[in-house]
Amino acid sequence: GMLLFILLISCAVAYALHKYFNKYTTPEDTLRSAIDNGEIVPFYQPIVNGRTGTLRGVEVLARWKHPTAGFISPASFIPIAEKSGLIVQLTQSLMAQVIANMNAITSKLPEGFHLGINFSATHINSPAFLDDCMKYRDSFQCKDLTHVIEVTEREPLNVDEQLITKLNILHDSGFAIALDDFGTGYSGLSYLNDLQIDYIKIDQSFVGRVNENAESTILLDCVIDLASRLSLSIVAEGVETLAQVEYLNRHNITFLQGYYFYKPVSFTDLVKILLSRPREKVVIE
Ligand code: C2E
Ligand code: MG
Ligand code: MG
Ligand code: MG
Repeated sequence: GMLLFILLISCAVAYALHKYFNKYTTPEDTLRSAIDNGEIVPFYQPIVNGRTGTLRGVEVLARWKHPTAGFISPASFIPIAEKSGLIVQLTQSLMAQVIANMNAITSKLPEGFHLGINFSATHINSPAFLDDCMKYRDSFQCKDLTHVIEVTEREPLNVDEQLITKLNILHDSGFAIALDDFGTGYSGLSYLNDLQIDYIKIDQSFVGRVNENAESTILLDCVIDLASRLSLSIVAEGVETLAQVEYLNRHNITFLQGYYFYKPVSFTDLVKILLSRPREKVVIE
């Protein structure tokens, strides 16, 4: 009798505790368990040579494969990851999965394939960053990849001596440094002074205005001009229409990314894309 009573009481206490903690589960806690459970997975969006249609590479984009809600967009969880510092674990987990994915298809990767991954300021400023990148690069069986570090300006980057040194070390060891969402963030122009940037990614808000009228492309034209004067290579993001492709071709923007060509796809679908194409050599211009 007594034993049953104690058992009942402990069940009640356990239930109450469970309720209590679930009620007070923060978005960070939920995200942390999602990372631990492998629910944050890499999707891949191809980047094409708009002139030849060949694949230049892919950008890794995080997706939350939620057990009940389906795929959740990074716009809703990357900010939480950045604020809480979980972005470091999140990116490390993505990197491990990208390595495993790419090592499973080494023989199918086009020569000189570009593999871009997004890094937040919080991660770049963390002590783990340099080591994470070097170990990452050394883990690929394919040694002919160009690893691209996409630096976003969503959070202000603290461009101090340390950050400049780190990014320059990576640049000198063969990484390509790309400024993401160029023109939308905090101080893209001054980054160009301080950092060894290989290319800029023109934000889709500029590309999206191509259809409108002559004035709507003034900013885009200025960014293109700036990049060419600085001998920076350009990737145009958010390319959705043939008119945009033609405009960018006319302005010598070779590398294009957007729904017009491909949406971000799962690894399984990336493999299908690679298999459906002749194994091509990436032409760097
Ligand atoms: P981003 O790095 O600028 O990535 C490009 C975004 O544009 C992606 O959104 C992509 O799906 C979307 N996109 C590509 N082509 C088109 C198009 O033709 N039309 C439109 N409307 N959109 C297009 P996504 O995947 O939702 O990612 C949003 C942002 O979240 C990314 O912007 C990046 O800043 C951030 N993010 C995603 N994954 C990661 C990650 O692993 N780490 C970090 N730090 N940030 C990430
Ligand atoms: Mg990006
Ligand atoms: Mg971008
Ligand atoms: Mg963007």
